[in-house]
Amino acid sequence: MMTKHEWSVVCAEALCREGVENFHPLEIADVGREALHATSRSRTRLKAPELSLLPNAITLCKLLCELREALPVGPILVNSWFRDFDYNYRIGGVSTSMHMTCGAADITKVGWLPGEVAEWFDAHEESKQLGIGRYQMFTHIDIRGKLDRPAPARW
Ligand SMILES: [Zn+2]
Repeated sequence: MMTKHEWSVVCAEALCREGVENFHPLEIADVGREALHATSRSRTRLKAPELSLLPNAITLCKLLCELREALPVGPILVNSWFRDFDYNYRIGGVSTSMHMTCGAADITKVGWLPGEVAEWFDAHEESKQLGIGRYQMFTHIDIRGKLDRPAPARW
């Protein structure tokens, strides 16, 4: 299993190769972050993603960079991006969660309301390939249609 440091190095190299400058590997996967199950109180620590999932992370990075550049420009803050199976289970995520593919993130954009972020994605030229979840404090965005999953999805 990759350590936090190994993940940071391998992912940073991939981001650099792809010209992604605004995201850090630990925003994609905060390896070692603890999850606590609500009822059983069992714990787990977030594992690094399989490297085969890196292209999904890169695709989502590029979409989030577009959102960053949309006027008015502002940083994207990541609440939650990759979750391994065990981590996802303990935080109560659905068993088919796109977060397990590296192709989903819960985000906010500084200066924008979550609803404005959701509307921007809804108006995007690739919106039919996207999953968009509206929450009070953040927006869920995923690239399900690019990963051969049924799309679009809205909630
Ligand atoms: Zn989400």
